[in-house]
Amino acid sequence: MKVFLGVDWGGTYIKAGIVTEDGRILKKIVYSSANLRKQKTFIGEIKKLKETFGKYNIKAVGIGAPGMIDVESGSIYYLPNVPGWKNFPLKKRLTKELKIPVFIDNDANIFALAEVRRGAGRGMQRAIFLTLGTGLGGAVIYDGKILEGKTSASELGHVVIDATGAKCGCGGYGCIETFTGSNRLLERYRQLKKIKTAPAEVKEIFDRAKAKEKEAIVVWKEFSSYLGKFLAGMINIFNPQIIILGGGVSGAFTLFRPMLLSALKKQAMWPQLTGLKLVKAKLADAGIIGAALLAKEKLEGYK
Ligand SMILES: [Zn+2]
Repeated sequence: MKVFLGVDWGGTYIKAGIVTEDGRILKKIVYSSANLRKQKTFIGEIKKLKETFGKYNIKAVGIGAPGMIDVESGSIYYLPNVPGWKNFPLKKRLTKELKIPVFIDNDANIFALAEVRRGAGRGMQRAIFLTLGTGLGGAVIYDGKILEGKTSASELGHVVIDATGAKCGCGGYGCIETFTGSNRLLERYRQLKKIKTAPAEVKEIFDRAKAKEKEAIVVWKEFSSYLGKFLAGMINIFNPQIIILGGGVSGAFTLFRPMLLSALKKQAMWPQLTGLKLVKAKLADAGIIGAALLAKEKLEGYK
């Protein structure tokens, strides 16, 4: 049986798995990514993985990396949360070690690919995918494929919503992720409640809003208004059939969905909204599945 090795490289964990052509995971391994920050250790571990899964006929390796990638050469420009990876030719180095084809893309692109092939957006040709967490990761699926340029592209989190806003990790000001990121939500809640310390997790603001606490509801209203403005722009540009929301903050999806929909109706051009679906991401292992499917489709083309 022909299989692909998919690697989901996250901030806390690296998950890897053997995946069939139709996106089923046969075997899965999870590591702490803290031990694999050095390039040499990372490459050594991927090599070991291939040996561990030696009984499988692995055709290619796909990797979803947390940062800016040159998708043509498979080099990493930089990873915002992993120091030391500037301009690193990962694909070249891994191909030499593993002796099979390797493909690398940005992690949000990989998640989006998994969701449109096997998850919430199955079969969709045009989709916007967002991971709502500490930051905002984004991807655009267009004509059934990941929209990318020379770079992994679709840095949707860095679309400016209000240039007088807070400084963003990218160096700019007032990007959408400075309004929707989990830390911003926690801080906004702290301000509204006039308390010293914010709750530890966004889930708490979700629970308090469900219990009809006024300040918690305001946090989600503001969040929906900003996200709605931003998504309306995306809708006007790309005319997606579906918007898929993943990441920790999407845990509050049932609560903010109606507010977000009403913001979209206010802002987006109505013909663009016809038939649009707004859903939560579905796959637990989208990173592994997406990385493996990326490898398959880059190798064999998308059928
Ligand atoms: Zn930014």
